[in-house]
Order: sequence, then structure tokens, then C-alpha cells
Amino acid sequence: MTGNSKTTCTWLGTAGWLIKHDATTIVSDPYLSRPPGVTPFPLPTERLADADAVLCTHGHFDHAFDMERVARLSGAPVWAPGVVCERLRTGGIDAARLHPNETADVTRIGDIGLEVVASEHIRYDLPLAAITIKAAVLGGTFWDLVDLGIGWPMGSNSDYLLYAGDHTIYLSGSLGQSPARMREHRPDVALLPYNGRTDMERVSAVAAENLRPRLMVFHHWDDFYPHFAPPQAPDLALGTLRRRFAHIRFHVAQLADPMDVDTLLG
Ligand SMILES: [Zn+2]
Repeated sequence: MTGNSKTTCTWLGTAGWLIKHDATTIVSDPYLSRPPGVTPFPLPTERLADADAVLCTHGHFDHAFDMERVARLSGAPVWAPGVVCERLRTGGIDAARLHPNETADVTRIGDIGLEVVASEHIRYDLPLAAITIKAAVLGGTFWDLVDLGIGWPMGSNSDYLLYAGDHTIYLSGSLGQSPARMREHRPDVALLPYNGRTDMERVSAVAAENLRPRLMVFHHWDDFYPHFAPPQAPDLALGTLRRRFAHIRFHVAQLADPMDVDTLLG
């Protein structure tokens, strides 16, 4: 920790984060428009007006649906896939505020440094696809999901490196990054999704082995759309991961909990 410097990471559900370092706030992948039947967005919407930058890892609906709303609310610059930037521009957001992830340089947002890291989306596995389709058909949301899938193309997928004082935070919206690309970084904190496959314990172990963070925090494990994503259970993997990677601290993000990074790093 540098002097009175303080870094907090608050999980907003799905892959949404509000990251605050000193006087700077960054919001990523905010998904406010949760339908009835799932856990609602956990913070008052006005809190997002404080954002000094709004980030979007990829264009799927649970990451990009509310980007325009939060861009308007905050008036902040936006980093997002080109396909999402184009949607925002068409929606009336000033093009000067839009920074496509694909061509973004390392930049400084107040007290936080931002680097966009080209990445991949995780490959859904067949068992998860089967569970999801069955749940959506039985729950009557199948065609809504088809519409959302078609209407919200992924575009490119990026991770973000945030330089906050002494700490480097690796933020991922979908854990498809290759082990080789992970090894190029060694963040203090990794905020990683626990979603997209039925073998996320194995995927998380690969990330632990290659990203080698001091602290790994799991998010995107919640129920964010009815009959779509049965909540995942990262808690069940903690015992195995802690035994195998004794030098890494593992933590399951809780909604709206402003995690103090220094406290968790110990
Ligand atoms: Zn997602």
C-alpha cells in the first residue's frame, strides 16, 4: 500500500465491477437490466454516475446491454469492442468518447492505468449448453434468449489490466485467455469469471497456474437471467484450489461487497 492509497473492488453481479482507487472509479460490464426472477442489480443506479471510465469486455447482452445507459449516466469515456462502440455511436453517444478495445493504447484514467489485453471468449461445453437449453425451454425463455443471442453479438473479447498504485488487477469478463498469453502477465489480483463451462474448477486451476496472481477472486457465478444460467458454485472448488495453490488466496466475490484489496492480499 502506498501511503493512504486505497483500492476497492465491488462486484455488481454477472461480470460487473466497480473498481475504485483513490479518487478514480472504473465501472466494467454493468448489467442493470436483470429481468424479474433473478437477483436484482445490487447498487443504486446513481452510484454508476461516479464512473471516470466505463469498460466492456465483449458484446454479449449480459456485458453490453446497459453500456449506453451507464455511458449517459456518467458522461465518462468508454472502452468497448468496436461493435459495441458503433451501437453506442448510433444511439447518440459522442464518438469522441468511444475507444474501441481492438485499437486501444495503454492509457491513464485519473489514478488508474488501463491496458486492454486481447483475449478470447470461453468455449461453452456441451453439458452446460444442454442444461441451459433445457432450462430455457421448460421456463419459456428460449426464444427470448435466441433474440438476445442474435441481437448482441460478441465482437472482440478483451481482458483489462488495471494499474492501481502498487497493485495490478487483471479483470476478465470471460475466461478464454490462452495459458501462453496469461503467462505474459503476473497480476497481484485476478478477477475471473466462474461461468461458461461445467468444468470451471479445472479452468480456474489453469488460470492459477499461468496467471500466478497473489489473489484470485471469482465472479459471474450468479443467476443473471431466468432459466439461463443456473448459479455456479465456486465455493465447492475452493478446497481443492487452496490445497494445490497454497501461495494464492482464493475468494468468492459477494454482491455489492466493497472488497478492500490490501486486506484481502494480507
Ligand atoms: Zn457473460
